[in-house]
Amino acid sequence: MTEATLFDDGRVFTGLRYADSFVVEDGRVVAVGTAEEARRATPAGADRRPLHGRLVLPGLIDAHVHLPDLTEAREGLDLGRVASLPDLVDALRAWARDHPDGPLVGRGWDPERSSDRRWPSRHDLDGVVADRPLIVLQASGHAGIGNSAALDGAGVVRGTADPAGGRFGRESDGTPDGRAFERALATLVEPLDALTSVDPRALARTLRACAALGLTTLGAMCVRPDEAAAYREMDRGPALPVRVRAYLHYRFWREGYRPPADPTSGTGRFAIVGVKAFTDGALGPRTAWLSAPYSDDPGNSGMAVASAGELAEVAASVSADGLNPAFHAIGDRAVATALEALDRPRRELPTPPRIEHASLTPPEVWPALERVRPVLVVQPGFVWSDHWLASRLGADRARWAYAFRTLGGRGLVLAGSSDAPYDPVDPWRGIRAAVHRVDLARRSANPSPNEALSYERAVQLYTANGGVAVGVPGLGTLEVGAPGDVLVTAATSIEEAVESGAATVRETWVAGRPVASGADGQTV
Ligand SMILES: [Zn+2]
Repeated sequence: MTEATLFDDGRVFTGLRYADSFVVEDGRVVAVGTAEEARRATPAGADRRPLHGRLVLPGLIDAHVHLPDLTEAREGLDLGRVASLPDLVDALRAWARDHPDGPLVGRGWDPERSSDRRWPSRHDLDGVVADRPLIVLQASGHAGIGNSAALDGAGVVRGTADPAGGRFGRESDGTPDGRAFERALATLVEPLDALTSVDPRALARTLRACAALGLTTLGAMCVRPDEAAAYREMDRGPALPVRVRAYLHYRFWREGYRPPADPTSGTGRFAIVGVKAFTDGALGPRTAWLSAPYSDDPGNSGMAVASAGELAEVAASVSADGLNPAFHAIGDRAVATALEALDRPRRELPTPPRIEHASLTPPEVWPALERVRPVLVVQPGFVWSDHWLASRLGADRARWAYAFRTLGGRGLVLAGSSDAPYDPVDPWRGIRAAVHRVDLARRSANPSPNEALSYERAVQLYTANGGVAVGVPGLGTLEVGAPGDVLVTAATSIEEAVESGAATVRETWVAGRPVASGADGQTV
């Protein structure tokens, strides 16, 4: 007994082209074309879903999210709205009062949004809580500040040297002042990981919220072993509403963790498919690795977290086990280094390796990009969020930041993502930023109209190209053979859907079955 649905009489963007109707049978698209063609291919007894001219898209793919961090940002201490240092201290105090036990971690704090742009010191945080660790993460997640208990718990004292690929802020006598960048931040945060575990029920709430936005596949980055176990367990029950394609944090690979022999599970909606390692930091805290110094910090060219040789070894070792390397690289020097690493011998896999972010890609890196041809997993929302970029890089350099049309025009595959919680998880915001480049306040990291994408191209970043990025053939399209992941909108055109944003989501289907529905995107 097959289960089939005819989506009839609509306007279907397959991710590659337009059609009128399509049929999903046993979880896969079996026909797409005119209404007549689809009707002829429809098995007897199929359900009919009349679309009345409405637009249907493939389910959206966010190729790069951090799901436990997003869950923490949704349900934990979110500092994204604090506007000054006194505000920050008040928010921390209120949270500490309501959460009297265990370590405290606040996320999303952005000094660029703060009136005084001041970073708190260890002493400011000691004034909030002194008897347990407190860490405030800067919005990028690549820098943060710990109180004295956090430093003590990590064994960081006056004589502690900076780790390779990291740096502690210091007081004038060399005592760590609480600030920590890149690998130094990992030194503070990793002892807390051992004290906290992933909550599968909270993760499931996050996944359902993603489905309600029209997302049907998530590229889960920096995955921990207990997190992978949680997805696998969820996929044995009804709780995994969307596909999760996991990229392990390299740290766990280095420590000897290996995925189970069968890395998929249950319905096959979950799989471990890659390992993510870091080349550099981020533009916000000026740790992205540049080929020339920051325009607003002339002694600083950012931070190398790994060399090309180290990354080449990572690529060789993970690909030997059938997993895909995914290298974080934001600055132009980091992108060149990641490309150099991927240009060395390793086992070729069915899907191309990934570079995460690839934020700054001046003409000098194009030849290596065109030779290696990685999938570039970009964050169009950063075009709006990093509106201060020209002050960091100068306008001439910023011209080659988030240069989506240039890169696509050179035949490279760009996949869209949010990097949530470091930018909002809403895929519609990213699609609009890729189309418009400037936000409602006319701000942009790189306003060049030459980099603006059409509505269809922008949606492709989050559909067909996302499928390539997470390594599932046909995923992100509604072509024959593709998984039946479907987004029914309330709109009659792609322009109307994108401009309406999440409000346009009527129904989200995964593998031929609805997982979220209704004007308010309630999960079913
Ligand atoms: Zn990320």
